[in-house]
Amino acid sequence: MAGEHLVPHGPALAARPEPAKKKESDMAVTTAPISLEQETNPWEAQAARFDLAAKTLNLDAGIWKVLRYPQREIIVHIPVSMDDGSIEVFTGYRVQHSTARGPGKGGIRYAPEVSLDEVRALASWMTWKCAVVNIPFGGAKGGVICDPRHLSQGELERITRRYTASLIEFIGPEKDVPAPDMNTNEQTMAWIMDTYSMHMGQTITSVVTGKPVNIGGSRGRREATGRGVSVVTDQALKHLNMSPESTTVIVQGFGNVGSHSANLLWEKGYKIIGVGEYDGALYNANGIDISELMEHKARTGAIHGFAGADAFDKDELLTAKCDVLIPAATENVITSLNAERLQCRILVEGANGPTTMVADGILAEKNIFVVPDILANAGGVTTSYFEWVQDRMGYFWTETEVNQRLERIMVDSFNDVVQYAVNHNVDNRIAAYMLAIDRVAYTTKQRGIYA
Ligand code: NAD
Repeated sequence: MAGEHLVPHGPALAARPEPAKKKESDMAVTTAPISLEQETNPWEAQAARFDLAAKTLNLDAGIWKVLRYPQREIIVHIPVSMDDGSIEVFTGYRVQHSTARGPGKGGIRYAPEVSLDEVRALASWMTWKCAVVNIPFGGAKGGVICDPRHLSQGELERITRRYTASLIEFIGPEKDVPAPDMNTNEQTMAWIMDTYSMHMGQTITSVVTGKPVNIGGSRGRREATGRGVSVVTDQALKHLNMSPESTTVIVQGFGNVGSHSANLLWEKGYKIIGVGEYDGALYNANGIDISELMEHKARTGAIHGFAGADAFDKDELLTAKCDVLIPAATENVITSLNAERLQCRILVEGANGPTTMVADGILAEKNIFVVPDILANAGGVTTSYFEWVQDRMGYFWTETEVNQRLERIMVDSFNDVVQYAVNHNVDNRIAAYMLAIDRVAYTTKQRGIYA
């Protein structure tokens, strides 16, 4: 299975590039200077951290190769009837990085800049994330190149259903279980579940997570990633002897992860002084009322125009002074271009891949305490795991039960990573990778290589 590439027929597709495979003799960590383009390539960013962690673990060269590359990569071209009667073709991906520890698990994102390298990186991060929190899933991710801002609900539904149909033999409760990510939501998951169920001839809710609660969704899933972010932020404060009441927070991205992280921290007494979006930012040194801001965004569709804060330069937000910085929007926002100017004490990565590897080195020199993405935002997949379990049992937990189970896993995982970092004298990110790689490698060795 390792290295299998499923590419649909068509000469244009056959020519698509694959990630260059390293020879055994090349299994070393690259230290040469790199361009900004390389620095911000998500696949390179993931692979560089993987290589460093694998080297520090003294990982067996064969297992290193198995885990470095995705198990399967699927590219689909989806014909869709548009509202004006024309036909448009969209490109979609699903990458299954590993199913060693259980079914593939990972979201689907809709965005114009989706690329195969991005989806590969995100799929690998899902493998490590599920292993960090020790839940029985592998890692996968999907994406469709499209701009949802310019698509009607009907067009989005037809894209989603055709994308699902194209992947029908590769997804399933025991194979690969998608979830929401950027620009996809509960409605998208309901369409995927329905399309899959129509093909199978029966309702199968556990094929996706992040569904509406009335059709097999879990209570608490909507806020779960933000809740996990808030729990690990509490733990980081405890670790550094700080208290919420005297802690200022800046959040970039006010979508699912950012808004719920900000809201839960605000409810705990943290002062949220800055919130940024792609089209502007807000600042209030006395703290922003996050529940009012959530209402404002729900009503107007944007954060600007909110009366409870001043407009702020969105490009200066990440480098403004605060105690806790939470990037919760997208990749590569902390790079060699701005890392030196960061003024936070703690960085909690709500987004996937917000920090480049070059920036990691700068943050370490500045003694910024980093809660890495594969730990910080694992609350979403953990509650997705609870949803999958509940769907398969046909028995649903209360929100309190879900949140308590989530909190226990996030606290334990935070402590595991921080302890691992101390024991092995590495930073928190490499500790999280090492812990995860060790768990996946152990299972991979135990299962053996089928030939
Ligand atoms: P979302 O689409 O709900 O929200 C993202 C928000 O960020 C949007 O409001 C968008 O306008 C804003 N944004 C986009 N680019 C920006 C930029 N350059 N600067 C400032 N704001 C920007 O998506 P989400 O589900 O909240 O995901 C956000 C991040 O968290 C992604 O990296 C995603 O992979 C990661 N993540 C999400 C979950 C989850 O459960 N939703 C779980 C783990 C990780």
